[in-house]
Amino acid sequence: LTQLFRPLDMLGMVYRTIRQGLIDMAEMFRLLDTDVEVSDRPNAPALIIRKPSVIFDNVVFGYEKDRTILHGLSFEVPAGKAHAVVGPSGAGKSTLARLLFRFYDPQEGRILIDGQDIRNVTQASLRAAIGVVPQDSVLFNDTIGYNIGYGRDDATQPDIEAAAQGAALMGLIGRLPKGFETEVGERGLKLSGGEKQRVAIARTLVKNPPILLLDEATSALDTRTEQDILATLHRVAEHRTSISIAHRLSTIADADKILVLNEGRLAESGSHAELLRFGGLYAEMWTRQAAEAEAMREAAE
Ligand code: ATP
Repeated sequence: LTQLFRPLDMLGMVYRTIRQGLIDMAEMFRLLDTDVEVSDRPNAPALIIRKPSVIFDNVVFGYEKDRTILHGLSFEVPAGKAHAVVGPSGAGKSTLARLLFRFYDPQEGRILIDGQDIRNVTQASLRAAIGVVPQDSVLFNDTIGYNIGYGRDDATQPDIEAAAQGAALMGLIGRLPKGFETEVGERGLKLSGGEKQRVAIARTLVKNPPILLLDEATSALDTRTEQDILATLHRVAEHRTSISIAHRLSTIADADKILVLNEGRLAESGSHAELLRFGGLYAEMWTRQAAEAEAMREAAE
């Protein structure tokens, strides 16, 4: 009988791996808009993380042969630090995230996580190590408990509850008559943008990855919700290595370090205060966004 079930077990495992892969793909939906192009090396080992540092070492990349997008990009995010990546539209921020998740390989240079070239390890182990909190989360037509729990295959109800707690979802779940068993999505409860993002955060907490890739929301959440979510994200990012792709600067001003990309190159880097003092591209973007926010406030009054 064992002989019979072993292949079935294997199938189950393959199914679960594929399902997790698809979920990660869905999570990365905004980041991914072409076919996956990379494959594992034969006998590639799993990524082993003791200290989750991330290094881009002279990374050159273009989607098409004759158009280079990243021109020798180098930076390091030390283990446990929170770095933010900012820059004008088209600077290469999402491209950098796609490369870290290994949807593509660089044409030159390398990307290291804890000293290991991500081309040399299995994609499954790489993607298990990186939690993505996207700006628009994909929810399944299933219960809210299921939607939180599929961050990890063997998640138990206590894991799911702890994650919901960590993502500040317990208030909402407590108000639902069926609690964690409430159906969400198309056929069930419609969640707001902020609530969906909290589900994504809870999912990440269940997955418990050492590295976080935060794709900052551009969708307009009201300021209070945004502040609440940012506070939750900061808690989640503590003790982890995190990279936030930011479109609005107000949300990342307290990052350990801000990397300013421009036309696929690292134009500036430093803390918010340092970059303002420097008076370059970041300072210019900051002044412009502050003026825009002020104009919006005035228009709203
Ligand atoms: P935004 O802030 O607008 O999201 P970004 O800094 O994230 O911009 P990327 O999405 O990384 O910028 O895009 C960098 C460049 O790569 C752009 O010129 C874009 O047109 C190009 N690009 C992005 N995705 C692809 C793709 N799949 N195929 C070809 N070119 C692409």
